[in-house]
Formats: sequence, structure tokens, C-alpha cells
Amino acid sequence: MNPLLQVDNLVACYGLLQAVRRVSLSVAEGEVLALVGANGAGKSTLLRTIAGVHPVTDGTIHFDGTNITRVPSHHRVAAGLALVPEGRKLFPEMTVEENLLVAARRARPGPWTVDTVLTAFPMLRPLLGKPAAVLSGGEQQTAAIARALMTNPRVLLLDEVSLGLAPVAVKSVYESLHKLIRDGATLVIVEQDLQRALSVADRVVCMLEGRVVLQSVTQAVTREQVTEAFFGLSRVSTSSAKTEPSLGQQT
Ligand code: ATP
Repeated sequence: MNPLLQVDNLVACYGLLQAVRRVSLSVAEGEVLALVGANGAGKSTLLRTIAGVHPVTDGTIHFDGTNITRVPSHHRVAAGLALVPEGRKLFPEMTVEENLLVAARRARPGPWTVDTVLTAFPMLRPLLGKPAAVLSGGEQQTAAIARALMTNPRVLLLDEVSLGLAPVAVKSVYESLHKLIRDGATLVIVEQDLQRALSVADRVVCMLEGRVVLQSVTQAVTREQVTEAFFGLSRVSTSSAKTEPSLGQQT
């Protein structure tokens, strides 16, 4: 099956710093990919580059077979790529409902409306009229996921899902994600909590210093192997993992 999202030899920089170094990965329709790695590994930059909010220095991004490497971010949203950014980035003075409706202005046709979002995430219903700024961290993360869904994405890019959330809020956010996964959503999840990441993902990609150091079907890799890759103690590419062409390429 052709991948829905295909990233090849992607490079993204801040000035002279290469934050993403020749990363290649693909995501199939209905797949959940966990992107893990230590602070500064390049996960957020990779996600932001795929979403089009950070420029590509080199390499390509294909979405459903179309080269979108130079396509502006709002056209990527319209094509079905949605980003839930690190820190949620809701419009703080707008109500939850207004945040949802703003996103709907860029929406593809699809199942997600305010009604269906509230059915999926009933915890948002009593919060609809409240400014986003007064929501708790977990409520904001759920609202941010709901806002992204309002664009009817084909791939949802979720940055730092559980960062800064209380354990009870993490549990609640993941319950929401499990619903989406059961319904066949295609997700790329950046998550520092390895346990959580491995529990939801079909495949795991680990980054270190801008490079992919592990890429595997989740079931084919142990938590210890991921942890070792996370800390740069080993490089793993299991037999059932996609071959990682950037391994060993130093730039
Ligand atoms: P974190 O979990 O800390 O967000 P990350 O894996 O998402 O880590 P990035 O945030 O993508 O990593 O950072 C990758 C590299 O780019 C790091 O060396 C970081 O210091 C650097 N970096 C990130 N944002 C900027 C910026 N706005 N300006 C300059 N350098 C940046």
C-alpha cells in the first residue's frame, strides 16, 4: 500500500543548526506512529516542517502521492494535514466554541463538526462558552485535538501530547486518542512518555540529535531497545522495521 505521508531525506535548520538531519519515514493510512526522543532530538521541528510551519532546507514531503514540500501550511491543512502544536496554542481569549469554529473555516468536507466533536469528547460540552485561557492543561489539550479534528484531517500530527499535564489529565487525553484510533485515525504522536507512546503506536521512530536512530514495528522492539536508542546507546533497525536510509549518513 502506498504511504499516506512520505518524508524523504528531510533537513530542517535554525540558522546553521541542523535540527532535522536527513530524516526519512512514512505513515500508512490508519497507522499510529510514535515519534520519541530526548529533549532537543528534533521531533517538534520535524512535525512543524511536515505541517509547513517550518521551512524545508532539503529533502521532500509527499502527501497522498503529491509533493507538498513547498506547499504553504494552510494548503496542507486543506489537503488533510493537521498539527496540534506543542503548548496547544489555542486562542486564549476566544471561547472553546470559537476556537473550534475558526478551525472549521479551513475544513475539508468530512465527519467532524462541533456536534460530532462534542459527541467524541463530551468533557468539552460544558466548556464551550469559556475562554480557552481558563481551561486546565488537560482540557486545553483535548480542545486543541478537537480543534484540529474540525479541519477533518487525514493525518493528525500531535506534538508533546502529555507534556506538562497531570497524570489524570494524561489518562483522559489518551482515552480520547484511543477513541480516534479505534475509528481508524492516522496519527503521528510525539510523546516523551515511552510507555504511553508504545502502548498506542503501531510503529515507533526514535530520534537522536536530529537523526532517526530506531524505526520499527512496535511489537518487534522491546522497551529496553527503544530506551537505548533514546539515550544513544545503540542503533536498531529490526527486520520488520522499514529500512532507514539516513542511518549512518552524517551531515
Ligand atoms: P523538545 O522535546 O525539547 O521540544 P524536540 O525533540 O522536539 O525537543 P526540537 O524542539 O525540534 O526538539 O529542537 C531540535 C533542536 O533545534 C534543538 O537543538 C533545539 O535547541 C533547536 N531549536 C528548537 N527551536 C529552536 C529555535 N526556535 N531557534 C533555534 N534553535 C531551536
